[in-house]
Amino acid sequence: MPAVFVGHGSPMNAIEDTPYSRSWRALGASMPRPRAILCVSAHWYRRGTAATANERPRTIHDFGNFPRKLHEMQYPAPGDPALAAEAARLLAPTPVDLDTRWGLDHGAWSVLAHVFPKADIPVVELAVDEAKSPQEHFDLGARLRPLRNEGVLVMATGNVVHNLERMNPSMQGGYDWAERFDRHIRESLEQGDAGALVDYERHPDAALAAPDRDHFLPIVYIAGSRRDDDRLSWIVDGGLEMGAISMRAFQVG
Ligand code: ZN
Repeated sequence: MPAVFVGHGSPMNAIEDTPYSRSWRALGASMPRPRAILCVSAHWYRRGTAATANERPRTIHDFGNFPRKLHEMQYPAPGDPALAAEAARLLAPTPVDLDTRWGLDHGAWSVLAHVFPKADIPVVELAVDEAKSPQEHFDLGARLRPLRNEGVLVMATGNVVHNLERMNPSMQGGYDWAERFDRHIRESLEQGDAGALVDYERHPDAALAAPDRDHFLPIVYIAGSRRDDDRLSWIVDGGLEMGAISMRAFQVG
């Protein structure tokens, strides 16, 4: 199976027909059907690594002030407690909480609603541990690599560029610093330069483009799960929105 990173942006993409939601639909149609999905989400950012281990993960509406249709949306994919336990084994000795309180947050379901609209493939969400370094997240991603040989889609969702404070709804394209940082990450991926991804905070535009680690670190998991012979392809190449959000998405393998 490939491994994919998807820039999710506004939760409205879940219910709107946008260039992004169309690309996500095409992604689902282009790949073999996975037996299950392991999804690293920017919106489950907590202390300690955790995996959802419920049979029926709930749909979490972790946002406010959006249309009722979005607040009522459900993504009733089953869970996969056995996969959660397997992920915990692979990630050892890092402790993994097998969590039954969380479910699927909008980082996962706003994208999956398009990639696999039938919601019939089991999903396990993996949290991003706020206490770990980018290198540690990379190493966790590398330990998940064997799942790809077992029919599991390793997926991560966040944003290459994500600065809500600088977001300008009337702006087309990106600020200069957003364009530069997005290009830096694109080139690092194209060159297979894992070190540049792990050291992304050293880039002079990182403080503006990726001020919160939660939306960037999911990328590092996919970089970690990438094999040397994996081809890189863009699901969304570019896609700077409102000045300060990059919708860039990619697939390896
Ligand atoms: Zn988000």
